[in-house]
Amino acid sequence: MKKYKCNCENIPIGSYDNQVALQAPIWSQKNRISVDSCLSPEIRYLWLCGVRTTGCCCGHNQLEPYIGVEPKSVNIMQKLGYELCEDDLSSSTHGLNFIPKSIKQISNGDNENANNNPSYNGGNNLVGYPAMAHTNDV
Ligand SMILES: [Zn+2]
Repeated sequence: MKKYKCNCENIPIGSYDNQVALQAPIWSQKNRISVDSCLSPEIRYLWLCGVRTTGCCCGHNQLEPYIGVEPKSVNIMQKLGYELCEDDLSSSTHGLNFIPKSIKQISNGDNENANNNPSYNGGNNLVGYPAMAHTNDV
């Protein structure tokens, strides 16, 4: 699995702690839409491009981030150069999930241990990431 780095610090999956409420675009039936703050500039940009989003998650440094769009917006996303999330190639019923561009992808390179523990910070390459307690087997 690819690893990604966003601005979330200690935000649990499913938490709304790091969300911002944006003024919803006109096609939405809502007045406001809450999105992960890490993705809010990108979501606003996509709305300006005419993309109808269905949901998104920045991944909170634990999961793969995604931006879901309606089927009619898939071609816009592809024109903008977005790539599909690998997991999602087969599920098109609710639109498709694309990989956000604003979330940095970390190459895990020779650091295979990182795959076993999604919260492992991969060493010192994450500038600004809070120091995690390293557990040493004694
Ligand atoms: Zn985030």
